[in-house]
Amino acid sequence: MTYTLIANWKMNGDLTFFHDYFRAFEGFSFPENAQMIVAPQAPLLSAYKPNRAIKLAAQNMSEHSSGAYTGEINASLLKSLEINYVILGHSERRQYFHESNALIQEKAIQAIKHGIKPIICIGESFKAYEAEETFKVLEKQLYEALPKSATSDEFLIAYEPLWAIGTGKTPTLDEIASTHAFIAEKTKSHGAVSILYGGSVKASNANEIMAQTHVHGVLVGGASLKPDEFKAIIKAV
Ligand code: PEP
Repeated sequence: MTYTLIANWKMNGDLTFFHDYFRAFEGFSFPENAQMIVAPQAPLLSAYKPNRAIKLAAQNMSEHSSGAYTGEINASLLKSLEINYVILGHSERRQYFHESNALIQEKAIQAIKHGIKPIICIGESFKAYEAEETFKVLEKQLYEALPKSATSDEFLIAYEPLWAIGTGKTPTLDEIASTHAFIAEKTKSHGAVSILYGGSVKASNANEIMAQTHVHGVLVGGASLKPDEFKAIIKAV
């Protein structure tokens, strides 16, 4: 199995940081079964040519194919830059930009139409977690945000509990295992979908998280900004 490791830089990193970061990976020996994907801010997507070792992902994309949508980025531009991945429905997009499951589904359909793999983020709030409503929330997100007829080779899922993002907290390993098993079961009509875990992953916990059944990689925010830390996460596969 190939593990997918995503570095989500969010709104961090200028051109100097970008070049220094990739320079830090020169000569790095990637494990055979690891695929690294960096998601920088959009203008940087054309500053590096994706290759066998390192791919790039956009952090967002328009649901529209083209036209008068100032500030938006369309799938065909991404594709022409050889960007083959896009993160969709990250909790920060849902929270600050009010993205709904229906919109995320539209964007995912648009991405797949252009041969771009969406990494569709889902996750429960702390309130839902405490109320033991995690599965109920995830089932609704999966039902409403996944493109119905997409096959497992066309998209990935990132399970990111909202309360674990940037907080240093993570669910227990048993909780991660049972939630990923639940997602695998609910998405099996699409095939064997890759399900990544995200939320306070760092070098010290990456190995045990990725050792869980149905965890096919990680989506990393804060810890991905430090090349040495992210290298250690990659080595943990
Ligand atoms: C994220 O950006 O999706 C994320 C998981 O952030 P962090 O690793 O900082 O919790």
